[in-house]
Amino acid sequence: MSMLPSLARVMQWGWWLAVAACCAWIIGSWVRRRMTSRALSEDEPRCARCGYIIVPGASSICPECGTDVRRGGLLTAFVRPPPPVTPWVALAALLTVPAAAWLTPPVAEWQPFGWEFTVEQVVNLPDVRGQVRWAPPIAIVSAAGNGRYGRRVPREVHVNTYVGAAFGDDPRLLVYPQDMRCLLRYGNSGDPQSGTFTRDVAAEVVRAAGFDPYTDAGRRAVEQLWQHVNRIAAGDFPPTPEAAWVVPLVDRRITYRLRDGARRAVGGVVWAVLFSLSLAPILWWRRRRKRRFVMRQSALIDGLGLRSPVPGGGG
Ligand SMILES: [Zn+2]
Repeated sequence: MSMLPSLARVMQWGWWLAVAACCAWIIGSWVRRRMTSRALSEDEPRCARCGYIIVPGASSICPECGTDVRRGGLLTAFVRPPPPVTPWVALAALLTVPAAAWLTPPVAEWQPFGWEFTVEQVVNLPDVRGQVRWAPPIAIVSAAGNGRYGRRVPREVHVNTYVGAAFGDDPRLLVYPQDMRCLLRYGNSGDPQSGTFTRDVAAEVVRAAGFDPYTDAGRRAVEQLWQHVNRIAAGDFPPTPEAAWVVPLVDRRITYRLRDGARRAVGGVVWAVLFSLSLAPILWWRRRRKRRFVMRQSALIDGLGLRSPVPGGGG
């Protein structure tokens, strides 16, 4: 076992530290504002830059620091700039991370992008050879492709036979749905035979797997193979998705898988939406406080009747 903490653990700790830092920032700025507001009085406006008391009727130029207080601003206990918004924005960005992590799985499941499917259909082959087998002989028609909710057409349809022959000897068929061209391969050796997929090809698969395609059971197997390959090639799939962990050889199943990149992209989009939603009230509050501050400040400056600086004069 490694002594190093896992990446997830480190990120969790980092998240808590960042949340704590934001809270400390918010509390710290609140305490600082309380302290400065105690130092400020309502009757004695001070230069916002240096804190010098500006009396009514004085010059608008602060005698201490030379700032024009009409631009630099004045502060009283009542007229103060709003608290900083940055720690609130940072806190919103942090708190929406676990919310997004919680919401992402259902959203990812529901959204249509980035899906892959695998569809499988079992065809029972006639068990006529009277041998003891490890499993009944079957052919599996399978296909894979992209999509989930829209039109899904597989790239290729595969037929693999499992008849318990020596490894690699069971015939395999590959069908291209665009034009129904097919390749039939006998085991791993030799060149595949190519042609168009017909009932005769389906019969040849059954024959190559070691069964007579012209008995009743053989005819049924050929017909099933023919129909299932055509169905799957046309995008006619089982309607209900099966969980991937069920017994692998149910008759007919479709499984969907979301690509990892798509899952991450969904997570990012969910977070961005939650973050901008939480940003709206913060920015609205900030704008309100700022507007109120500007209004109070200009009323204060107007009420003081400050003299404009005399050009060239000494103040
Ligand atoms: Zn000043």
